Amino acid sequence: MQEKLIFYYSAMKGGKTSRIFSKIHDLEENGQTVLLIKSSKDKKGEEEIINRRGEHIPVDILLKPNEKLLSKKYFNQIWNCNHIIVDEAQFISPHQATELWEINKKMNIPVTCFALKGNFRGDLFSGAARLIALADEITEMDTNSLCLCGAPAKFNARKVNGEFTMEGEEVVIDGSTENIEYQPLCGGCFFKKVYSKGKMKKCIKPKEKLS
Ligand SMILES: [Zn+2]
Repeated sequence: MQEKLIFYYSAMKGGKTSRIFSKIHDLEENGQTVLLIKSSKDKKGEEEIINRRGEHIPVDILLKPNEKLLSKKYFNQIWNCNHIIVDEAQFISPHQATELWEINKKMNIPVTCFALKGNFRGDLFSGAARLIALADEITEMDTNSLCLCGAPAKFNARKVNGEFTMEGEEVVIDGSTENIEYQPLCGGCFFKKVYSKGKMKKCIKPKEKLS
């Protein structure tokens, strides 16, 4: 059987970590050796992933942005695993995404990636874009991430000092003095509150008001 590369995505706070915990638990219970990979660009939890109940799982490979997965350093770990899981997969580079696909296709190791699809501006993360291009299956997770209006959230909006913004670096570097937080939003609220902020007066009126 040809094993697949699967890309799961949701907005922030969408329950990805809980899904990773249960996936690893299920695989290990069936005697599988799981290789858990995370990009070092994700600062929270550092060398482990932590779920909402405060449980920890150590990361096997904390992958630096310019590192190659297909290298002597990681060969044994990859060779000896039965399943690769990638947490915060949006942060890996397009080249690393391609390497995951090569590993999956050459070595027939299933690869399951969990990621955000878009950044705070609503653009695809480059790692997510490459994985979406290559994945055998792309699945939006049943989400428990809700917008302020109660609709399912699709976007990850950034607030700086309490104000929504489209400005700034994709990944904020440690030591930033700004007070940055993220808010999951639905498409309508992202359009109104973030994308069109301050521009709404120029918008055409809804059709019903024109008639
Ligand atoms: Zn909304």
